[in-house]
Amino acid sequence: MNVYDSDRMQDLMNAVGYENSDTPEGADMVIINTCHIREKASEKLFSDLGRIRPHKNKKNGEMIVAVAGCVAQAEGEEIFKRSNVVDIIVGPESYQTLPDLVGKVLRDKKKQINLEFIPDNKFDNLVELKAGTGASAFVTVQEGCDKFCTFCVVPYTRGTEYSRDVNKIYEDALRLADKGVKEIYFLGQNVNAYHGNDENGQASTLAKLIEKVASIDAIKRVRYTTSHPRDMSNDLIAAHRDIDKLMPFLHLPIQSGSNNVLKMMNRKHTRQDYFKTIEKIRQARPDLGLSSDFIVGFPGETDQDFEDTMDLVKQIGFTQCYSFKYSPRQGTPSADSKHQIDEKVKDERLARLQALLSEQQFDFNKKSIGVKMPVLFEREAPKASAKEKSDKIQLWGKSPYLQSVIVDVATKEEAQKYFGQIADVEILQARPSSLMGKIV
Ligand code: SAM
Ligand code: SF4
Repeated sequence: MNVYDSDRMQDLMNAVGYENSDTPEGADMVIINTCHIREKASEKLFSDLGRIRPHKNKKNGEMIVAVAGCVAQAEGEEIFKRSNVVDIIVGPESYQTLPDLVGKVLRDKKKQINLEFIPDNKFDNLVELKAGTGASAFVTVQEGCDKFCTFCVVPYTRGTEYSRDVNKIYEDALRLADKGVKEIYFLGQNVNAYHGNDENGQASTLAKLIEKVASIDAIKRVRYTTSHPRDMSNDLIAAHRDIDKLMPFLHLPIQSGSNNVLKMMNRKHTRQDYFKTIEKIRQARPDLGLSSDFIVGFPGETDQDFEDTMDLVKQIGFTQCYSFKYSPRQGTPSADSKHQIDEKVKDERLARLQALLSEQQFDFNKKSIGVKMPVLFEREAPKASAKEKSDKIQLWGKSPYLQSVIVDVATKEEAQKYFGQIADVEILQARPSSLMGKIV
């Protein structure tokens, strides 16, 4: 979602005459869009500000530095106190005002802050989507959260749950299709709780929204993330069976395989609920690739609780996952718990879980060898070594199951032919987190 928000900020500033720069060197403006979800992510802000300071000094201060995102929302004025480099602080629900804030800094020579929560106003005041619209484009459909898991800052930094209207999302999708976008990726903190109004003012569902956008001819693929197990409704499960363009992949975070921990997390679902949901969805779409998020070392997590997580992972079998050490976030209930887990224990648990998850991912990838699958090619593959840089042109794309697929092509011209296109690829080799293949 931060990638989507950064692209929108870029669009807003481009519309008032700013051009993109690859470096802060000589830039008139720098925006740092921040994440507050874990301590490590939010600490980056102040080291980044330290790196920007010499560039601002070199320009005799003639550089506007804006801090956006959830750290801005959570820390507010404190950021001005900790770093005098910063001119603007703007929250994730108020960044549509960025050009206005820049105007005020230039005119009044005063620092500006806007941390309002007006999602309707935000989406109505964004400019046409341009940045980040290659073969695949993110579209935010839902924001915020009312679920208040005891570890999570999202309800405080992104506000209460909000869904955009169906017709506005549909218009975005039509415009993106016109630009050559083939895949739409719906985003939301709890995207499957989507309930935006349809053209009759009735609450829609994510399944209906997917059906509507999938009816656009030029859109060939639809995906969504992130979902909550409680909101995995029957119509969404049926959509995985009935809508071919809905890709066979689901990111459904469980966080822990222990009912004790799930209760302490205020997740309001049990491991049994999760098993049932997975069974239903696998019946609807047997080849579905499954992903999840896990937190290890939540306060009070015992060895047995952690073993329950390992057991759940073994029973379900995931194709790729995210896993994190619990990070206490100020203001959330679990940060005050007296039962914090030792860092060393967290490290050991995370290493064991990640080894298992990586093994499952590699196993899933190995099963793809010899299979022919449609791949959406988005860009040139990142080069692993200087030698590769000189002699190979490689394309990077996504399989229906969200695996990275890399193929060799002979010339730059041939590469251009495939960018933004879906082509059949035979998988020749599996790597732990990618596949190698040839276009057939
Ligand atoms: N809404 C989604 C759900 O309910 O699962 C999760 C969205 S959250 C922005 C993304 C992920 O960050 C979570 O699934 C969780 O695993 C991780 N996360 C959130 N707070 C965390 C914390 N305090 N420490 C470690 N990981 C955290
Ligand atoms: Fe955070 Fe997701 Fe829980 Fe909401 S449901 S509080 S976004 S983890």
